[in-house]
Amino acid sequence: MKVSIVESILSANDEIALQNKEILDQYGICTINIMAAPGSGKTSLILRTIDALRHRLRIAVIEGDVASTVDADHVATKEVPVAQINTGGQCHLEAQMVRRALGELPLADLDLLLIENVGNLICPVEFKLGEDLNVMLTSVPEGDDKPYKYPSIFVAVDAVVINKIDLLPYVRFDVDAFRKLVLGMNPDVKFFEVSCETGQGIDDWAEWVLHQRERKG
Ligand code: MG
Ligand code: ZN
Repeated sequence: MKVSIVESILSANDEIALQNKEILDQYGICTINIMAAPGSGKTSLILRTIDALRHRLRIAVIEGDVASTVDADHVATKEVPVAQINTGGQCHLEAQMVRRALGELPLADLDLLLIENVGNLICPVEFKLGEDLNVMLTSVPEGDDKPYKYPSIFVAVDAVVINKIDLLPYVRFDVDAFRKLVLGMNPDVKFFEVSCETGQGIDDWAEWVLHQRERKG
Protein backbone atom coordinates (compact mmCIF):
# COMPACT_ATOMS: atom_id res chain seq x y z
CA MET A 1 0.00 0.00 0.00
CA LYS A 2 2.65 2.47 1.07
CA VAL A 3 4.76 1.64 -1.95
CA SER A 4 1.94 2.38 -4.38
CA ILE A 5 1.28 5.77 -2.76
CA VAL A 6 4.94 6.71 -3.14
CA GLU A 7 4.88 5.55 -6.74
CA SER A 8 1.86 7.65 -7.59
CA ILE A 9 3.40 10.76 -6.00
CA LEU A 10 6.48 10.19 -8.13
CA SER A 11 4.52 9.65 -11.33
CA ALA A 12 2.45 12.81 -10.68
CA ASN A 13 5.74 14.66 -10.23
CA ASP A 14 7.15 13.17 -13.44
CA GLU A 15 4.10 14.33 -15.34
CA ILE A 16 4.60 17.94 -14.24
CA ALA A 17 8.36 17.65 -14.86
CA LEU A 18 7.63 16.59 -18.42
CA GLN A 19 5.41 19.66 -18.89
CA ASN A 20 8.16 21.87 -17.42
CA LYS A 21 10.60 20.38 -19.90
CA GLU A 22 8.21 21.09 -22.77
CA ILE A 23 7.91 24.72 -21.68
CA LEU A 24 11.69 25.10 -21.33
CA ASP A 25 12.29 23.37 -24.68
CA GLN A 26 9.87 25.74 -26.37
CA TYR A 27 12.04 28.64 -25.27
CA GLY A 28 15.27 26.78 -26.06
CA ILE A 29 16.41 27.07 -22.45
CA CYS A 30 19.08 24.62 -21.32
CA THR A 31 18.29 23.67 -17.71
CA ILE A 32 20.74 22.23 -15.22
CA ASN A 33 19.69 20.76 -11.87
CA ILE A 34 22.56 21.10 -9.39
CA MET A 35 22.53 18.72 -6.45
CA ALA A 36 24.92 18.43 -3.51
CA ALA A 37 25.19 18.06 0.22
CA PRO A 38 24.93 21.28 2.24
CA GLY A 39 28.17 23.27 2.09
CA SER A 40 29.66 21.73 -1.08
CA GLY A 41 29.49 25.09 -2.84
CA LYS A 42 26.35 25.02 -5.03
CA THR A 43 25.76 28.73 -4.74
CA SER A 44 29.46 29.49 -5.28
CA LEU A 45 29.47 27.37 -8.45
CA ILE A 46 26.39 29.22 -9.70
CA LEU A 47 28.02 32.59 -9.03
CA ARG A 48 31.20 31.49 -10.86
CA THR A 49 29.16 30.13 -13.77
CA ILE A 50 27.31 33.43 -14.11
CA ASP A 51 30.61 35.34 -14.15
CA ALA A 52 32.09 33.00 -16.75
CA LEU A 53 29.13 32.93 -19.13
CA ARG A 54 27.09 36.09 -18.63
CA HIS A 55 28.45 37.70 -21.80
CA ARG A 56 27.60 34.68 -23.90
CA LEU A 57 24.35 33.42 -22.40
CA ARG A 58 21.28 34.93 -20.79
CA ILE A 59 21.16 33.19 -17.45
CA ALA A 60 18.55 32.82 -14.70
CA VAL A 61 18.61 30.91 -11.43
CA ILE A 62 16.06 29.05 -9.35
CA GLU A 63 17.18 28.86 -5.74
CA GLY A 64 15.73 26.03 -3.69
CA ASP A 65 16.07 26.39 0.03
CA VAL A 66 14.42 24.91 3.08
CA ALA A 67 13.84 28.30 4.65
CA SER A 68 16.15 31.24 4.01
CA THR A 69 16.67 33.59 1.06
CA VAL A 70 20.40 34.04 1.75
CA ASP A 71 21.55 32.24 -1.42
CA ALA A 72 18.96 33.93 -3.63
CA ASP A 73 20.05 37.32 -2.27
CA HIS A 74 23.63 36.43 -3.13
CA VAL A 75 22.74 35.45 -6.70
CA ALA A 76 20.60 38.56 -7.11
CA THR A 77 23.72 40.70 -6.61
CA LYS A 78 24.83 39.36 -10.03
CA GLU A 79 21.80 41.07 -11.56
CA VAL A 80 20.38 37.98 -13.20
CA PRO A 81 16.75 36.92 -12.75
CA VAL A 82 16.34 34.76 -9.63
CA ALA A 83 13.27 32.88 -8.47
CA GLN A 84 13.31 31.67 -4.90
CA ILE A 85 11.60 28.49 -3.78
CA ASN A 86 11.20 27.97 -0.07
CA THR A 87 10.25 24.36 0.37
CA GLY A 88 8.91 24.95 3.88
CA GLY A 89 11.12 22.30 5.42
CA GLN A 90 10.94 19.79 2.59
CA CYS A 91 14.35 18.36 1.73
CA HIS A 92 14.11 18.38 -2.08
CA LEU A 93 12.57 20.37 -4.93
CA GLU A 94 9.53 19.05 -6.78
CA ALA A 95 8.38 19.77 -10.32
CA GLN A 96 5.33 21.75 -9.25
CA MET A 97 7.56 24.14 -7.23
CA VAL A 98 9.71 24.68 -10.31
CA ARG A 99 6.56 25.27 -12.38
CA ARG A 100 5.58 28.12 -10.07
CA ALA A 101 9.12 29.55 -10.20
CA LEU A 102 9.07 29.48 -14.03
CA GLY A 103 6.13 31.88 -13.85
CA GLU A 104 8.41 34.45 -12.22
CA LEU A 105 11.16 34.26 -14.85
CA PRO A 106 11.41 36.04 -18.23
CA LEU A 107 11.55 32.78 -20.20
CA ALA A 108 11.60 34.43 -23.63
CA ASP A 109 14.85 36.17 -22.67
CA LEU A 110 16.81 33.18 -21.34
CA ASP A 111 19.33 30.65 -22.66
CA LEU A 112 20.39 28.90 -19.47
CA LEU A 113 18.54 28.08 -16.26
CA LEU A 114 20.51 26.90 -13.25
CA ILE A 115 18.51 25.23 -10.49
CA GLU A 116 20.07 24.98 -7.04
CA ASN A 117 18.38 22.03 -5.39
CA VAL A 118 18.07 21.66 -1.63
CA GLY A 119 21.29 20.44 0.02
CA ASN A 120 20.67 16.70 0.20
CA LEU A 121 22.09 13.68 -1.64
CA ILE A 122 19.14 11.31 -1.32
CA CYS A 123 15.67 12.38 -2.44
CA PRO A 124 16.44 15.13 -5.00
CA VAL A 125 17.52 12.33 -7.33
CA GLU A 126 13.99 10.86 -7.27
CA PHE A 127 12.21 14.05 -8.28
CA LYS A 128 12.59 15.15 -11.89
CA LEU A 129 12.09 18.87 -12.36
CA GLY A 130 12.12 19.27 -16.15
CA GLU A 131 15.90 19.63 -16.43
CA ASP A 132 18.11 18.70 -19.37
CA LEU A 133 21.07 17.79 -17.20
CA ASN A 134 21.76 16.70 -13.67
CA VAL A 135 24.98 17.71 -12.00
CA MET A 136 26.31 16.60 -8.68
CA LEU A 137 28.73 18.76 -6.79
CA THR A 138 30.98 17.41 -4.09
CA SER A 139 33.91 18.99 -2.28
CA VAL A 140 37.17 17.45 -1.18
CA PRO A 141 36.76 18.12 2.57
CA GLU A 142 33.68 15.87 2.47
CA GLY A 143 35.92 12.89 1.68
CA ASP A 144 36.12 10.54 -1.28
CA ASP A 145 33.75 7.85 0.04
CA LYS A 146 30.44 9.44 -1.05
CA PRO A 147 29.96 7.03 -3.99
CA TYR A 148 29.78 4.16 -1.49
CA LYS A 149 27.26 5.96 0.70
CA TYR A 150 25.03 7.57 -1.93
CA PRO A 151 25.35 5.43 -5.07
CA SER A 152 22.03 6.43 -6.63
CA ILE A 153 23.00 10.07 -7.18
CA PHE A 154 26.27 9.09 -8.85
CA VAL A 155 24.43 6.76 -11.20
CA ALA A 156 21.85 9.44 -12.10
CA VAL A 157 24.00 12.46 -12.97
CA ASP A 158 25.54 13.68 -16.23
CA ALA A 159 28.49 15.35 -14.53
CA VAL A 160 30.29 15.38 -11.21
CA VAL A 161 31.98 18.59 -10.16
CA ILE A 162 34.68 18.20 -7.51
CA ASN A 163 34.94 21.53 -5.72
CA LYS A 164 37.52 23.03 -3.33
CA ILE A 165 40.46 21.33 -5.07
CA ASP A 166 42.65 24.11 -3.65
CA LEU A 167 42.31 22.18 -0.37
CA LEU A 168 43.71 18.90 -1.79
CA PRO A 169 47.11 19.35 -0.10
CA TYR A 170 45.41 19.52 3.31
CA VAL A 171 42.74 16.80 3.23
CA ARG A 172 42.53 13.14 2.34
CA PHE A 173 40.81 12.88 -1.03
CA ASP A 174 42.13 10.49 -3.67
CA VAL A 175 40.87 12.05 -6.91
CA ASP A 176 41.93 9.12 -9.12
CA ALA A 177 40.33 6.51 -6.89
CA PHE A 178 37.18 8.63 -6.65
CA ARG A 179 36.94 9.00 -10.42
CA LYS A 180 37.54 5.32 -10.99
CA LEU A 181 34.85 4.37 -8.50
CA VAL A 182 32.29 6.74 -10.04
CA LEU A 183 33.13 5.65 -13.59
CA GLY A 184 32.47 2.06 -12.54
CA MET A 185 28.92 3.12 -11.61
CA ASN A 186 28.35 5.59 -14.44
CA PRO A 187 30.76 5.16 -17.39
CA ASP A 188 29.48 8.23 -19.32
CA VAL A 189 29.82 10.74 -16.49
CA LYS A 190 31.88 13.89 -17.02
CA PHE A 191 34.23 15.15 -14.30
CA PHE A 192 35.26 18.66 -13.48
CA GLU A 193 37.80 19.61 -10.83
CA VAL A 194 37.30 23.17 -9.70
CA SER A 195 37.89 25.66 -6.96
CA CYS A 196 35.14 28.23 -6.69
CA GLU A 197 37.50 30.04 -4.30
CA THR A 198 40.43 30.48 -6.71
CA GLY A 199 38.56 30.01 -10.00
CA GLN A 200 40.72 27.04 -11.01
CA GLY A 201 38.93 24.70 -13.44
CA ILE A 202 35.92 26.99 -13.89
CA ASP A 203 36.76 27.63 -17.57
CA ASP A 204 36.47 23.92 -18.44
CA TRP A 205 33.20 23.64 -16.59
CA ALA A 206 31.79 26.79 -18.20
CA GLU A 207 32.88 25.56 -21.64
CA TRP A 208 30.96 22.32 -21.09
CA VAL A 209 27.84 24.23 -19.97
CA LEU A 210 28.09 26.45 -23.05
CA HIS A 211 28.42 23.37 -25.25
CA GLN A 212 25.33 21.79 -23.67
CA ARG A 213 23.34 24.91 -24.45
CA GLU A 214 24.65 24.97 -28.06
CA ARG A 215 23.68 21.33 -28.51
CA LYS A 216 20.16 22.32 -27.61
CA GLY A 217 20.13 24.77 -30.53
MG1 MG B 1 23.57 27.37 -1.52
ZN1 ZN C 1 13.43 15.11 0.29
